[in-house]
Amino acid sequence: MEKYTLIITEKPDAAQRIAQALDHKGKPKKVEEKNVPYFLVKRDKPLVVVPALGHLYTVAHIGKGRNYYPVFNFKWAPRYLAEKGAKHIRTWIEVVSKMAKNAEEFIDACDYDVEGSLIGYYLLKYACENKENVAKRMKFSTLTRGELEKAYSEPLLKLDFALIEAGRARHEVDWLYGVNISRALTLAAKRWSGKYATLSTGRVQGPTLNFLVARERSIRSFVPVPYWSIRATVDIEGAAYEVDYEKKTFEKRMGADAVVKTCKGKIGKIEKIEKKSTQQRPPIPFDLGALQTEAYGLFGYTPKRTSNIAQRLYLEALISYPRTSSQKLPPVIGYQAILKGLSKERSHKRLASELLQIGELKPREGAKEDPAHPAVYPTGNLPERPLHESERRVWDLIVRRFMAVFGEPAIKQSMKVTINVNGHRFYLRGRRILKKGWMKFYKPYIRTEEVMLPPLKEGETVQLKELLREDKFTKPPPRYNPSSLLKKMEEVGIGTKATRADTIETLYSRKYIAEERIVVTDLGFDIIDVLHKYCSGVISVELTRELEEKMEQIQTNSEKRENVLFEAVERLKPMLEQLKQGEAAIGEALSNAIKRSRIQERIVGGCPTCKTGKLMILYSRKTRKRFIGCTNYFKNACQTSFPLPQRGTVKPLHKPCKGCGWSTLLVKMKGRRPWILCFNENCPKKEERRKRLEMQSLQKRSSK
Ligand SMILES: [Zn+2]
Ligand SMILES: [Zn+2]
Repeated sequence: MEKYTLIITEKPDAAQRIAQALDHKGKPKKVEEKNVPYFLVKRDKPLVVVPALGHLYTVAHIGKGRNYYPVFNFKWAPRYLAEKGAKHIRTWIEVVSKMAKNAEEFIDACDYDVEGSLIGYYLLKYACENKENVAKRMKFSTLTRGELEKAYSEPLLKLDFALIEAGRARHEVDWLYGVNISRALTLAAKRWSGKYATLSTGRVQGPTLNFLVARERSIRSFVPVPYWSIRATVDIEGAAYEVDYEKKTFEKRMGADAVVKTCKGKIGKIEKIEKKSTQQRPPIPFDLGALQTEAYGLFGYTPKRTSNIAQRLYLEALISYPRTSSQKLPPVIGYQAILKGLSKERSHKRLASELLQIGELKPREGAKEDPAHPAVYPTGNLPERPLHESERRVWDLIVRRFMAVFGEPAIKQSMKVTINVNGHRFYLRGRRILKKGWMKFYKPYIRTEEVMLPPLKEGETVQLKELLREDKFTKPPPRYNPSSLLKKMEEVGIGTKATRADTIETLYSRKYIAEERIVVTDLGFDIIDVLHKYCSGVISVELTRELEEKMEQIQTNSEKRENVLFEAVERLKPMLEQLKQGEAAIGEALSNAIKRSRIQERIVGGCPTCKTGKLMILYSRKTRKRFIGCTNYFKNACQTSFPLPQRGTVKPLHKPCKGCGWSTLLVKMKGRRPWILCFNENCPKKEERRKRLEMQSLQKRSSK
């Protein structure tokens, strides 16, 4: 067989893109071996492009058994040896190994960042048998043909070992924390109650949950204080305009009442009109965090969802690599060519063409840099397939942000009209845009509205129309949502751009938090209580950030992985010692917390019969069937019960039925869309639904 160059990519989609870009006809041959795809590429010399499947290797414990800690010995091993359900990884590695045998040259073309570099490194080291020191590295930020061609013909001559070391350190440190503390908690609970439940916390998870608990505490302990304010409008040529009273709040009701009394129905005189123009500079390019924040604010997408969508757009060569913390757009990305590409599409044609008229394009940039990639930008390629609604939105947002950064400053004019009513001052405020500048490009996503005022002159009089006292209460601090939590993590410097969204998802899936406006569950509270008492280091932001900074320094060669690892272990040792000493107390606290949370999960709502009990999902001892019963049954006080479907899962929704107001459940069954169940036999909605279902099944039958 002819010798070839083996190119390793991070995932199958990327392999296909890269193969297409490098094949002289753009048509590589796809081969599938035991469900592992790879691509044969023809050009001056033959290439084989084989994908990884994300991480194929992972940190694994050296030693047997799971029922003890501390454990500090680990090695990197294929995932199928360390994890359940990773069997397919074995064949995957086998296929890569086989393709490596006849290769004479090796190129790593995984994503150029910590994770990607690590994936390529272990595949080259283990599956390809020690090729990590001879392999070259393709470095690129987009999967466009032009950039891939360049990255292939001018590769880096060796792997980026600083990135690899940083990646190793992160995975190893996270493993050490994760495995030891999770084991300590799980074992404590098990030894106390005899029951097994996985309790986990991670190096970043702990401090993140801690913010939420702190916020939850201040919300719960918040005592609202009453205050009063004035609400008023003036009449100008028959239209009502809202005005602000000079004093925003009153601590005493009397104060507000006095204003109402003196000014009600009176005529005011325009004392002063002040106009002020302010320049508003264009926005800065998106890094991943800013993109996630904007998409949450505009479309309500969670950070995780946005990063998944962005990843797909990247794989289709529509945008540059999204996992970046850069706010820079260097000229080398080719502004003109990108805009030319965008101008071929109907919806961006006009604006892109307008920018192309400008002689020298200069983007506004932010301060943050990323050694591996520029900020997120559109490649200028157009979609090859119709995009889904959400993909379309995120792509359009990225395109418009990109165009906006080249725009001129916008000029806003604000106007403040001071109206004097019997010695009291009211302010009428207007806002308008004198020059759109960059806003033209970003228009659909600009959230400030103009407030136009009619022409007014100093000395004129206006009539106060509405004048009311408003009774208010001070509000507790707002709850975090996934987006503001991600921002907070960024601010305090814990986690990485690639992992923050996942950390938040994990907190949800562990049931430590719930709801979009995040509420901490009792279990979440209890976990933090235990950690706070017995190993506060795990939830300390300072310690976490310090470690984070050290790991960053490995990337710039100013710190060594070995040192960071040694330090992490030294810190962990006393924490684990403490956990061991407190084992009985921790076990009791956690077992009770788990028990409570399991009961809580089964509570459906109040009992409509006895009004004092709670309806709960119960299991019959005899038949093992599940049903809804009242908690007062155990006191022989209430016999209320309702049947439940026996297949699938049922979960209390804590939302009243729209038909009857009873509590509802969410039922999920395999192969069916989840539905909301009202268990009230006499619910008016039921009759409706029965009829609808009958109709549907009739229709189905007749269409068959
Ligand atoms: Zn009852
Ligand atoms: Zn109902």
